[in-house]
Amino acid sequence: MANHVDSTKRLVAYFSMEIALENAMPTYSGGLGVLAGDTIRAAADLRLPMVAVSLLYRKGYFTQRLAEDGTQTEEPVEWRVEDFMVEEQARASVPIENRRVEIRCWRYPVKGVRSFEVPVYFLDADLPSNAEFDRNLTGTLYGGDSYYRLCQEVLLGIGGVRILRALGYNDLTRYHMNEGHAALLALELLGEEAQKAGRTSIRGADIEKVRSKCVFTTHTPVPAGHDRFPMEYLTRVFPKQTEFLDLKDASSVDLLKRVLQAEQNFPGLEEAARRGASLNMTQLALSLSTYVNGVAKQHGETSRQMFPEVPIEAITNGVHAGTWTCPAFQQLFDRYIPSWRADNYSLRGALGLPAEEVWAAHLIAKHELLEVVRTKTGLKFDPEIFTIGFARRATGYKRADLILADLDRLRQIAKNAGPFQIIYAGKAHPNDGGGKDIIRRIFHAKKALRKTVPIVFLDDYNLEVGGKITSGVDLWLNTPQFPLEASGTSGMKAALNGVPSLSILDGWWVEGHIEGVTGWSIGEPRRAGGGNVPTDSQEEAEALYSKLEGVILPLYYNERSRFLEVMQHAIAINGSFFNTQRMVQQYTTDAYLR
Ligand SMILES: *Cc1c(COP(=O)(O)O)cnc(C)c1O
Repeated sequence: MANHVDSTKRLVAYFSMEIALENAMPTYSGGLGVLAGDTIRAAADLRLPMVAVSLLYRKGYFTQRLAEDGTQTEEPVEWRVEDFMVEEQARASVPIENRRVEIRCWRYPVKGVRSFEVPVYFLDADLPSNAEFDRNLTGTLYGGDSYYRLCQEVLLGIGGVRILRALGYNDLTRYHMNEGHAALLALELLGEEAQKAGRTSIRGADIEKVRSKCVFTTHTPVPAGHDRFPMEYLTRVFPKQTEFLDLKDASSVDLLKRVLQAEQNFPGLEEAARRGASLNMTQLALSLSTYVNGVAKQHGETSRQMFPEVPIEAITNGVHAGTWTCPAFQQLFDRYIPSWRADNYSLRGALGLPAEEVWAAHLIAKHELLEVVRTKTGLKFDPEIFTIGFARRATGYKRADLILADLDRLRQIAKNAGPFQIIYAGKAHPNDGGGKDIIRRIFHAKKALRKTVPIVFLDDYNLEVGGKITSGVDLWLNTPQFPLEASGTSGMKAALNGVPSLSILDGWWVEGHIEGVTGWSIGEPRRAGGGNVPTDSQEEAEALYSKLEGVILPLYYNERSRFLEVMQHAIAINGSFFNTQRMVQQYTTDAYLR
């Protein structure tokens, strides 16, 4: 009955720049953090001996405000850390420039269905003994410039390992880097190996040892999305040749060179220099990990094309079923499929649920969402009307406005096939002008379509809004530019609540889609690297319109029982599989125990 962190016998350390655990804790910005939180919850359910590490953000990501015309402004989030977490006594420090930055950590326990706990430690540099710049490093998530980010990654990677040691975690056999932000942890492990051997320099054997302990999950299907820092920043962060890693004769840059040179297949430093001599965190993580994976089968393939020199596997993402199933469906599952929380596979039994009860649970979720719409915007949406949901980070490739390509066509569809309404949400990164433009375009369309296709945009997309919107709509829309959606997870949340997807065949939907059974595709399957020709947005908008008009709306309004069959398939086929319980089991067998 290990239900407390009494046991420091943990085997897996999971590192993530963001982790979403509670709506009121602004420790995440979007999908990466939500996945991390869901991973930890599933690990707790499975009693996997894991411990997790992230950074504390005292100002969070940001609170989104939207003007009349959809212009976004950002405000820091106010929250009291001590209301949610407990401060630990352990202390550690990392070298930054010529300073020793002291760090402490706060513990947040994540409890599983069998009361097993996975502790999450949030690192905090806001201590009076630190310089102002250093104290602010645990201030904002994805804020500041690239140098600020590098310093944050020093805290996460190097500081994370050091605080785990200070807390007494000495049995860890795997270090899981959730995206490249944590890659510097591998350098700290290298320093430890050398020290253990009584040496002051790194050898090939150290690299092999460290590699056998590291697992790396990449999330980004485009080279531009990978964190990289000018080499010059590294010499600035670690100016003293002897300070970094406490090694006498290894400067950070020398060490990196050695690491990268030891990797025979690495393009080499000359080439790295020609490319602008930057440290690519993804390359660093790739060269120091024994197991590397993409987050869906399609994304694994895209990643192998990007990094042909390393073997890259795929473990498709999931969501935490107990968290993302709305209360009405939780009660329904508890009654008919009582084992579903501890054994998500049993959700396949959703095929046997009484259809009228599925519909009743769905209507409760829909009413709850429309109540959120009313309180947030004052608008009264009709629950009888077919409702489409789209909530995501507002950024170019997600193409939130694809469905708005032809407003006349939308008016026509509503007239011919039946009325529908659209509920939007999503934040744009403060520096993403393109993402902000998309929100403004949605506001513009909202005005133009007011009389025929009601549209609403809910501000400040977060876990709570996410839960309401993915469970309360009738259809989940997903229109990324192929192959840029590494996985996508909100459609999985929808599936658990019996909400089918209409989506481009990208990310997880390549695996989750069975036409007319679990939902519908927009356009045809594609192959990654198929000449790298971007898909045609206009063609895809047309494909979306014809499926909505010719297939989905008629099914919803005229063949409700067949629509309900699709809803039940979404739960039974996709909800039972695209969850973090299955995902963490795969990580365990493929990566942690290997
Ligand atoms: C689920 C979720 C995401 C990620 O959704 P994607 O479909 O993977 O983009 C982002 N933000 C919030 C608040 C979420 O709940």
